[in-house]
Formats: sequence, structure tokens, C-alpha cells
Amino acid sequence: MPAHISEIFNSIQGEGPYVGVRQVFVRFEQCQLHCAYCDTPQTRNVSGSYRVEKAPGTGEFYSLKNPVGRDELEEIIRKLWSPSTRHVSLTGGEPLIHADFIKTLELEYPLYLETNAGFPGKAKELRDKISIASCDIKLPEHDSTDHYSELLKNELETISIFNETSTTFVKVIILPETTTQSIAFAVDGVESIDPAIPFILQPVTSSRKVSTERLLELMELAGKKLKDVRVIPQMHRMMGFL
Ligand code: SF4
Repeated sequence: MPAHISEIFNSIQGEGPYVGVRQVFVRFEQCQLHCAYCDTPQTRNVSGSYRVEKAPGTGEFYSLKNPVGRDELEEIIRKLWSPSTRHVSLTGGEPLIHADFIKTLELEYPLYLETNAGFPGKAKELRDKISIASCDIKLPEHDSTDHYSELLKNELETISIFNETSTTFVKVIILPETTTQSIAFAVDGVESIDPAIPFILQPVTSSRKVSTERLLELMELAGKKLKDVRVIPQMHRMMGFL
């Protein structure tokens, strides 16, 4: 079963607790959500081709036709792997939409999944293959969906599933308008699963800054119930990496 992807490259993880770790990134197409802050809106739909960076850091790409087959993708990943690379990052779009495809991969490298966590059924199918799971919790003000309660329930279930088998952390995007109440719901949800799950507050990369005072307030709120709360911005955007 082939999959639609948008790009493959070798770069440096710019988000979350693994910031600075070198990875091969496979960006899948399609996403069931429509977050207001989305920085990859072009990946929400399927396209006829994907791009592969010719050499790390060059910003030069060649194009290949979608959909990609398992053997083809594995060959490209192996060519892009390097001595300092540590994981294959499955990102998107929403990679869990492609769980059936990901299940068939036979790579000798650890898989790092970046997911909006909206598909617990697919998380169950994949959990034994995933070494590290970066799971989002969306907030109502992200405008990701018309069915927020259902999404939050699915996200918490997905986090719980991955937390049983994979190194798992939660990432929440903080907007200037993020409310104390919406963060409190997310914190309560994570606490009910495991208060030791790292909880990352990621201020949105935008001209509309979240103040330091507000970030510290939200950290305090989360820190009352969770053991590992951090603020980590998008480093790749600051440094100009892919
Ligand atoms: S889940 Fe990610 S890819 Fe999907 S709309 Fe939201 S930010 Fe964009």
C-alpha cells in the first residue's frame, strides 16, 4: 500500500525535548484538522509529487511522483541517513492517517512520530513500531476542529496508548489568546494518564508574541500537577533550518 508524502530531508529536530537531534524527516500529506496556526497547510491535501533534498542543508531538491512505495521510501531514507542521524521523524500533515503504510516499513532506525494524536485506533496498530511519540494536545482557540471535545478525548487516549510502549511527550502550542482554562483541561488530562509525561509549552512562531510573564504563569499552572513542564520554542524557525 503506497502513501502520499510531500518531502524528505535530513535536518535537525527543532521542536520539543529532542531539539538539536539530527533526523531524517518524512513529511506525510493529508490532515484531518485545520489549525489556525498551521505552518504546513500545503500538506493537508494530496499532490502528484514529493521532493527529496539532494544533500543535507543545501536546500536543493529533486522531485519524484506520488504515491511512494515502501521499498522506494526505505531506499531514500537509507541514502539520507548519516553518522550523526538518530531517528526517522514521521511528520506531516498527519502521519497516523498512513498507519497502514508505516506498519509495513522495515527500517533499522528508530521511528520518531510527530502526531496530532487524533487517531487512537491507528495509534494502537502502530505503537510497537514507534520509539518516540510527540503527541499534540490542541486547544479550543487553535480552531483545529468543529468537534473539540471528541478531539481532546481521542488525543488523551492516543497519549495513553503510546505512553505504554514508547517514550512519549505532549506538545501544546501557546497563542497570545490561550486561556488558563484551556491549558488547565490539557494539564488535567495528562495528569490523569501519568503526571511524569513531559509537557511542552511551545509559543507560536508568529509576529504576535506570547509574553514571558504569560508563559511563566502557564508553566506554574501546569507545574502544580505535572512533573516535567518546559517552554521550548521552534528552534528550526529561529535558525532557518528546514
Ligand atoms: S495538525 Fe498539524 S498539519 Fe494538521 S492542521 Fe494542525 S498544525 Fe497543520
